[in-house]
Amino acid sequence: MPTITVAEHAGACYGVQRALDLVHQVAGDATGPVHTLGPLIHNPQVVAGLESAGVTVVEDVPREAGSTLVLRTHGVVPEVERVARERGLSFVDATCPYVKRVHHAAERLQRDGYQVIVVGESGHPEVEAILGHAPGAVAVADVASLEGITLSKRVGVVVQTTQAKARLDQVISALTARVPEVCVVNTICEATSERQQAARELAAGSDVMVVIGGRNSANTTRLAEICASACGRTHHIETPAELEGLWFEGAEAIGVTAGASTPMAQIDALVSAIRGLL
Ligand code: SF4
Repeated sequence: MPTITVAEHAGACYGVQRALDLVHQVAGDATGPVHTLGPLIHNPQVVAGLESAGVTVVEDVPREAGSTLVLRTHGVVPEVERVARERGLSFVDATCPYVKRVHHAAERLQRDGYQVIVVGESGHPEVEAILGHAPGAVAVADVASLEGITLSKRVGVVVQTTQAKARLDQVISALTARVPEVCVVNTICEATSERQQAARELAAGSDVMVVIGGRNSANTTRLAEICASACGRTHHIETPAELEGLWFEGAEAIGVTAGASTPMAQIDALVSAIRGLL
C-alpha cells in the first residue's frame, strides 16, 4: 500500500485560520447582514461555504447601517475604516497581526522622518493598504523599479509579508549603494517560505504530488510549480472530486500539500479521498 504524506507545513496559516474563526463567530452572533470586503481568502470552496452561512462578498463599503463588515487578512487603507464608522457599520478587523506589524513599521519609519519604501507588488491589496498607512510611500517590486525614484538621504524599508528574502536583500544592497542611511524592518512572514520549503522536500521524495487549493490563489499555484519542478507527476486540484485513480498507478510515495488559504479540513478530505482510490 503506498504511503500518503502531508507536508510538514501545509494549509491555512495563522492569519487565515484566525480570519476564518472570526468570520464564523461573527456569522453566528450577528443579527444583521454580514459582509466581507472582497473574498476572505482565495479559495472558492471556502467562499461558497461562507455564502451558505449568510456571509456575502462586497466590493465596497456597504451603506446599510446595522450590517457587519469583516476586513480580510490583507488589511485595508485607514480610509475604509473611517467610512465604515461614518456609515454606522460594525466592523470586525480580521487583518493578520503580521500585516498590522507592517502598517505600524511603515507609520513609525515615516514619523521618524524616513522616506518609506515598500518592497512588494504594486496593486496588490496588501501593498495598497500598507501605502495607505504611510502616505507618500512608494512600492518597488525589484531593483529595476528603484530607477526613476528620487531617493532622500534617509530611507526606511518594509516588505510585503509574502515576498522572498532574496528580493529584499537585492533591494537593500541597491539602496545602500545610493543612500547614506537605510533602515530596514524585515516584515516577511515565514508561513509562505516554510510551506514552499516543505513542499520542495516532500515532492523530491514522492512519486505523485497532489496540491489542493484555489486556482486563483497565487501562493497555492506557486506551491504547485515548486512541486512540479521536483516531481513530474504533480496535480493541482481545488476539490477531491477532481482526483483520478490513474494518477496513482505504480506510486509508492504520495505527497500532499496545500497553500496558506486552504483549511485543514480540505487537506483531511483529500487524504481520505486518495485512500479511497488506492
Ligand atoms: S501568510 Fe503570514 S502574513 Fe499572510 S495571513 Fe498568513 S500568517 Fe498572516
